[in-house]
Amino acid sequence: MTLFDSPSFAQHEGVHAFFDEKTGLKAIVAVHSTARGPAVGGCRMWNYGSSAEALEDVLRLSRGMSYKNAVADLDMGGGKSVIMGDSRTQKTPELFRAFGRALNTLGGTYYSAEDVGVSVEDIAEARKETPYVVGLSGGKEGSGDPSPVTAEGVYRSTLVAARRLWKQDDLTGLTVALQGVGHVGGYLADKLAKAGAKLIITDVNTQALEEVAARTGAEIVAPDAIYDVQADIYAPCALGATLNEKTLDRITARAVVGAANNQLATPEIGLELFRRGVLYAPDYVVNGGGIINVASEMRARETGGSYDPQWVEGKVDRLMQTLEEVLERSDAEKRPTHEIADAIAEARINAARDEKEAQRKAA
Ligand code: NAD
Repeated sequence: MTLFDSPSFAQHEGVHAFFDEKTGLKAIVAVHSTARGPAVGGCRMWNYGSSAEALEDVLRLSRGMSYKNAVADLDMGGGKSVIMGDSRTQKTPELFRAFGRALNTLGGTYYSAEDVGVSVEDIAEARKETPYVVGLSGGKEGSGDPSPVTAEGVYRSTLVAARRLWKQDDLTGLTVALQGVGHVGGYLADKLAKAGAKLIITDVNTQALEEVAARTGAEIVAPDAIYDVQADIYAPCALGATLNEKTLDRITARAVVGAANNQLATPEIGLELFRRGVLYAPDYVVNGGGIINVASEMRARETGGSYDPQWVEGKVDRLMQTLEEVLERSDAEKRPTHEIADAIAEARINAARDEKEAQRKAA
């Protein structure tokens, strides 16, 4: 297994492997950056084919969290953790308690939360052993399910795109192709329909599809057909890498605004979208509402206060200003939006690093 020569290694501050014999826990925590504050990012439980695969994933995901937290202007760095195993068959409360004990050894450098394969209940189990987890339900600090706030951010990002491309303040007359009507996609569908959009939806879960269609009047299409429908906006809210060489020519929407992480299969796809005049709203800007919600819990913990919806609202608002800045700079500098978002995130991370360094020297 390689680390420092891995293509996904990006000057990570720390990479920690944990094994617990009794529970079978095999976990890797990657702390990409603590320049802006403690590293925060979810824990993914996945049946990786090898530990090399798990390492690649956690390196890539933790770097992504540094960028997402920086563009959301949160006082948090980026980190992520992975647990190797099948979340349907190998989960036990003891496993997550062992994970919690492992986090204690990092002393608060990294805070974990839910991600693919890890639920609020699992994190609550880890919480019995460690304070270094967030995304809990209940209590005055608990931020609960982040999906409604994520959906609100995606919705407002869609309005930003509509204002730029169609000079309108709502979505009347626009068709949105929505892929995935799960936690985020379900809330998003309601908001889009209320703002006047016509919806074309797909999912592999037919029950969820029918429920959303009954509420919103959406047209249902088969999963693969979503790339071929006539729509103004494509909203990927299911899987990553759906913008790829195979789908690029099929998608005719003028804007892509969705919740899914890592929508671009490669950076070149982002460049190609830009060349074709498609407004790509960078995924980690659009979907930052969820981590903002979690950050409110961190903040409540630090200050002894409560989860604060007004603070969350202010941060989501600022995130939308950052999206506007990304789109304006993309036009002015004639560069793809994902590059501009990366540049903004890197500038914020580097500024925080320099400030810390100056403080260290002055002390
Ligand atoms: P979810 O699992 O609740 O919903 C995903 C939906 O996609 C499910 O209904 C699933 O059946 C459907 N799906 C799976 N494969 C599909 C396919 N091939 N075609 C069509 N639909 C398919 O997840 P979620 O929490 O709603 O998150 C959606 C996306 O947004 C994910 O990529 C997630 O990483 C990202 N995201 C979520 C949040 C959040 O707050 N939940 C925050 C940031 C990013």
